Formats: sequence, structure tokens, C-alpha cells
Amino acid sequence: MRRRGGAAVRVTLVEPRAPLQATSQFSTECYRDFFVDTALVPFMSRSVSLLEELAETDDAINLNRRGYCFFAGSDAGTKALERFGVQASSFGAGPLRRHDGSAGRGLAEYERSPANGFRGPTGLDLVYGPELIQEIYPFVTSKAQVMLHARRCGWLDAQALGRAMLTASGGQVLRGEVVGFDTHQGAVTAVQVQQNDGVAVSLKCDAFVNAAGAWMERVNKLLEAPPLPLKNEVHAKVILNDVQGVIPQTAPFMVWRDQVDLDWEEDMKEFLLELDDTATGGMVNSASWLAKQPGGQHLRPCGNGRVLLLWEHLHRHVPVPEDPEMPISDFLEMYPELCVRGLKEMVPGLGGYVEGLGKDTSVDGGYYTVMPDGRPLVSPHGASNAYVCGGMGTYGLMGSPAAGAECAQEADGRGSRGLSLRPEEEDKW
Ligand SMILES: Cc1cc2nc3c(=O)[nH]c(=O)nc-3n(C[C@H](O)[C@H](O)[C@H](O)COP(=O)(O)OP(=O)(O)OC[C@H]3O[C@@H](n4cnc5c(N)ncnc54)[C@H](O)[C@@H]3O)c2cc1C
Repeated sequence: MRRRGGAAVRVTLVEPRAPLQATSQFSTECYRDFFVDTALVPFMSRSVSLLEELAETDDAINLNRRGYCFFAGSDAGTKALERFGVQASSFGAGPLRRHDGSAGRGLAEYERSPANGFRGPTGLDLVYGPELIQEIYPFVTSKAQVMLHARRCGWLDAQALGRAMLTASGGQVLRGEVVGFDTHQGAVTAVQVQQNDGVAVSLKCDAFVNAAGAWMERVNKLLEAPPLPLKNEVHAKVILNDVQGVIPQTAPFMVWRDQVDLDWEEDMKEFLLELDDTATGGMVNSASWLAKQPGGQHLRPCGNGRVLLLWEHLHRHVPVPEDPEMPISDFLEMYPELCVRGLKEMVPGLGGYVEGLGKDTSVDGGYYTVMPDGRPLVSPHGASNAYVCGGMGTYGLMGSPAAGAECAQEADGRGSRGLSLRPEEEDKW
């Protein structure tokens, strides 16, 4: 890595864990280039281009472009997906094509996504009617009226991405924790590190970047900088061993859009009312599962016959302590069953798991660290040569190449400074 003017830059990644062993290793590892935010679209488009560049050489990061497929079975859901497609396209996600089988053309103009590689189509496709939808994905419910297929999306290997970026920067890893700073005239002159082997070292530096994920505010306090408006939320995913072979391993990322009823038996409803412990400060909000649930439940295959299942709203109420734990010890015990019940609306075959989830089903997760405006936090903060880089919530892996590039440009005096709210704009938080 080089500075403007050509001088070499030495990057040191200070990390007590092996790199990417906190939230990043629990991510769904997906990426997309559609957003309805004028700042996020160019940011993520740049990031996806950087991902594609990294994948160019013998696909080092296992990038695919299977797309994100959204389904709806109601008229309201159909209209919402149509509106969303038009909006995403107008924000720069590429052309929106419609396939409704009119004039006997069937799916003649719909291009299927390849399972591997990242050279598939771009833009978005709206496919109408269960017959056409099931011709593409036979395991999807016949209730689906519409499918919105966003194309420049898919997933990748997060560990490989981390390795590729570290190699590209010529950086080195120092196993230890940042525990303090030396400053002089408003600039960081050295970072105090407690190494994992117990040795304390002082790292002289020209610039410091706080990219400590859910712990950014803790590091920020060490620098005695004004507080950051970041919030941490727990998010979790289920890893299902799909022994019944319901979801083909070549499937894309799939989302159900409509509200769902979770179909509880009468005796189960009573049990859920009793189980709810939120009145005594617990996290089991089971009484609320009796009402209609918002859509948004999603899945993707992840190799070796396994499938990832997620439903974000189910953990949103769980409080996160100031010093977030990692790994997270407690998730909702019924999370796998809730995901299966929600997702069988989109893929009825998953109903076979409602009563029969194997003991090899597991749950893991980490944190969405978010800004109030939902935009990335890449900015100078706390000292004249200190920067913050994070706050990317749902899109922190896919956004990391652009965030890193933007942060490096900021440190080199070439940043666009337009990415997020400035931390000093406190009145807007
Ligand atoms: C269930 C789930 C699914 C997700 N799915 C996606 C997805 O599909 N696509 C996507 O793009 N994003 C996704 N995300 C979000 C994404 O995973 C995060 O935005 C991203 O991993 C955050 O990366 P980070 O490097 O900021 O944080 P982390 O990966 O948590 O890294 C922060 C690091 O800072 C280190 N650290 C903390 N304090 C110190 C200190 N004092 N000194 C030194 N080091 C310190 C920690 O050890 C940690 O390793 C998902 C998240 C979750 C939880």
C-alpha cells in the first residue's frame, strides 16, 4: 500500500482474536448492490466492484452472483415488490425487466443465474405467477404471485476476503488488544497494545483507525473522544442440516415478503403465553409470536447439504451490554423452529422440520452495529490523525472493501467526506 506521493504505508492490524473471529465469522456472507439511499448506492457499487476485482484472479473469494429473490403471495406484497423494483432501479441497480408469460413467451427472456461465478446478469427481474416461478424454483410455494430477482448479489467467503484484503495491503497482524493511546498536540503518536502473550508494546503511528466493530465505543473512550452514536443489535442465524433435501444447494438467497401466521396448535398457544418472561426482564417474548409476524425471513444454502435460516425481527428486542460478549452465549431457544415455521410459507417442504429439527441444528450470531442514519461511519474522529470505520450493520462484510478504501483515502487527505453523518453533527443524531 502506498501514500499519495508514493511513500510505502505499513499497516498493522491489532486483534486479540484470530482475524474475523468476532461478528464477521457469523455473517451470512452475502452482498447486494441495490439500496434506496443516494449515498449507499455509489458506496456499495464501488465495494461490489472491488469484490469482483478481488475475485478476478482464480476466484480467490468464491464470489457467486445467484442473486436475491424476494417472493410475495398477496396483492399488497406484489405491489410492494413492484414498487421496490422500480425504486431500486431508479437508484442505480440497473434495468427492471418483467416476465409475465404474455404472448406465450414464458420465460424466454428470463436468464437463470449460474450457481457459480460472478458474471451473471445485472439489474432486476420481476416474474409473475406461480407457474413461471415454479418453473425456475419448483420448491417455492404455489401461493407466490411474484418474484423479484435482484441480480448483482450473492455471497462469498468472508475469511478469504479478509485474507485477500490483508495481503493486498501488505499488512501484518499483531495479536493483542488496544488498551490506550499516546497523544501530542491533538494527534495520536502511539497506540498502547497489551499483546496476547502478556507483553505490553507501544506502536508508533502516523494514523490510527478504530474498526473495533461492536466495541468501537469502548476504544473510542480510551481515546477520550466524543461518544459515537452507534447502537449494537444481536442478530442470529440457524444452520440447518437439510437431510430432507428441501433446498437445492444451487438455490439463491431467498426472502419471503408477506406477513405470516405461525400456525400454532391451541395447547401450544397457551404454552407460549406462559413461557413469555419479558415481564421479569427475560428475552423470551413468546406471547408476541401468536400475532402475525412481519415478513423478511430468509435463507440460503451454504454447502454440504446445509442451509442458513434467518429472521431478523426475532432478536431485535434483546438488550446488548455496553461490553458485548463474544461468542454470544444465549439466543432464543425456539429460534430454529420459529425460522422454519416462518419460512415454510415460502418453501412448504420446510414444514417437514417443524416437529423434526435434528440435534445437529445450531444457532450462532453476532452484532449489527448501526448508525442512526443507516449509513457507514467512515470519518476522522477523536484526534487529527484518528479515524472511525464501521457502523455498517447488515452490510459490513460487503461494504468492507469500499469502507477500507474510503478510510485509507481519508487518512491520506483524499476522502470524499460524504459517506455518513459527521460525528460532530450531533444535533442530527
Ligand atoms: C447473523 C448475521 C448475519 C450477517 N449477514 C451479513 C451479510 O450477509 N452481509 C454483510 O455484508 N454483512 C452481514 N452481517 C454484518 C457483518 O457481519 C458485520 O457488519 C461485519 O462483520 C462487521 O465487521 P467488523 O470488522 O466491523 O466487526 P467484527 O467482525 O466484530 O470485528 C471487530 C474486531 O475488533 C476487535 N476488537 C475489539 N476491541 C478491540 C481492541 N480494544 N483492540 C483490538 N481489537 C479489538 C474484535 O476482537 C473483533 O475481531 C451479518 C451479521 C450478523 C450478526
